[in-house]
Amino acid sequence: MYELIIGLEVHAELLTASKMFCGCRVVDSVEAEPNTAVCPVCLGLPGMLPVVNRQAIDHALRVALALNGTIHPHNVFARKSYFYPDLPKGYQISQYELPLATGGWLAIEAEDGTSRRIGIRRVHMEEDTGKSTHVGDGRSLLDFNRSGVPLLEIVSEPDLRTPDEVYAYAVRLRQILRYLGVNSGDMEKGVLRVEPNISVRRQGELTFGTRTEIKNLNSFRALAAATAYEFERQVGLLEAGQPVRQETRGWDEGRRVTFTQRVKEEAEDYRYFPEPDLPALVIPEAWIARAQATLPALPAERLAHYTGPLGLGLPEARVLVDERAVADWFEAAVAAGGAPRQVANWMTNQLFSLLNERRLRIDQVPFPPRRLVALIALVDAGQISQNAGRDVLAEMFERDGEPAAIVARLGLDQISDRDALAPIVDRILAENPDQVAAYLAGKTGLRDWFVGQVMRATRGKANPAAVNELIDARLAFPGNG
Ligand code: ADP
Ligand code: MG
Ligand code: ZN
Repeated sequence: MYELIIGLEVHAELLTASKMFCGCRVVDSVEAEPNTAVCPVCLGLPGMLPVVNRQAIDHALRVALALNGTIHPHNVFARKSYFYPDLPKGYQISQYELPLATGGWLAIEAEDGTSRRIGIRRVHMEEDTGKSTHVGDGRSLLDFNRSGVPLLEIVSEPDLRTPDEVYAYAVRLRQILRYLGVNSGDMEKGVLRVEPNISVRRQGELTFGTRTEIKNLNSFRALAAATAYEFERQVGLLEAGQPVRQETRGWDEGRRVTFTQRVKEEAEDYRYFPEPDLPALVIPEAWIARAQATLPALPAERLAHYTGPLGLGLPEARVLVDERAVADWFEAAVAAGGAPRQVANWMTNQLFSLLNERRLRIDQVPFPPRRLVALIALVDAGQISQNAGRDVLAEMFERDGEPAAIVARLGLDQISDRDALAPIVDRILAENPDQVAAYLAGKTGLRDWFVGQVMRATRGKANPAAVNELIDARLAFPGNG
């Protein structure tokens, strides 16, 4: 029996207006015209000096705090030297011995809701490289728009044990980055890159086996699949008496296998040394305190609150916490007096389906959450039917106004008044003597048909419970009084 050991290195571009060490705009690296957001600093021209981006530090700090890391106010940038055409300076400014934060953790939940803490080894700041595109005949095109974009590296401890856990960790981390508004989480665009380090060992062994690192995974599914594949591959090698080689491997999405990319370099190959062009970055205590105080409530905390005090089921709670804007909307509705379970139900069903139809996001809902609460109250009071409620909600997307006013305008008031309904029920029964006879002869299933006729006659506005009662009273079996 073998055990799978995984540690994740995650690179997240930080959503800032300008780059890490120069004033160039950060542009969409897929959409923007190549080499339109560059300057002598990020092109690595000689004699240029870097200046640190304050916004990037603030973003990094918030992530490190959200991951429960110990912040080190004294930060030193380091040069990581290597040669690659997309790295014009010949080195990347990173952090090495003195990273922004160490020793944090991230809680992941299993399907059943049980939670486990995964250690965070370090969080450090660095800059992204340019992008090279291989166009065949050994030629490559270089785009330096991405060169110098702020990048955060988040390195976990080797605490993950299964592909499911790796998946859960990556999803949760992306969720947190989005909650903090520091990264879009768009893996296809490469703004979030997840690289698992994977090894196996015989169950019960205390030391880790030799690890491989997998690159170019562009989805969480690929991440989980590559992890599972690599487990099988390494176990196969060990079973055949062959060693696992420490190396960087790529993931072939088509063939669904990993393949050797390059034999792993050691840290000394990068010749790390303190960046002489930047002074040590000392982050004042007050800055750290402010960042801590302004952190939003994070997904795990909200999930616990929703499933605990608010009494929601786990699946529903998961849907609501997934995106911060959705969770905020839900909480605003609850704060406006909505019953949590009713609000959750209306949101995840009617509201989401209307949003889907209109291809809108939650922050584009044109009415405040308290209006949904007012609508739910109308349905609750029996003033309108559940179905009419859905129509009113749809109308709330089209026109401004309180739900009660829309109900009045659309004439959707539910008819609950028995005096109003009785003549309609009587007319339906009088018009359908055959059905009445059949019903009285025991075909009780016809009751729904009568209700349906009344609903039709009232264009859906009759209160079904009241109609049922009236029909029962009118068509009481002889023996029933
Ligand atoms: P580097 O890749 O720069 O050498 P580290 O040695 O700190 O950096 O490790 C990088 C990642 O590899 C971390 O996420 C760590 O948890 C993970 N890791 C280290 N050793 C192993 C191992 N034997 N098996 C699986 N993951 C490992
Ligand atoms: Mg590594
Ligand atoms: Zn620049």
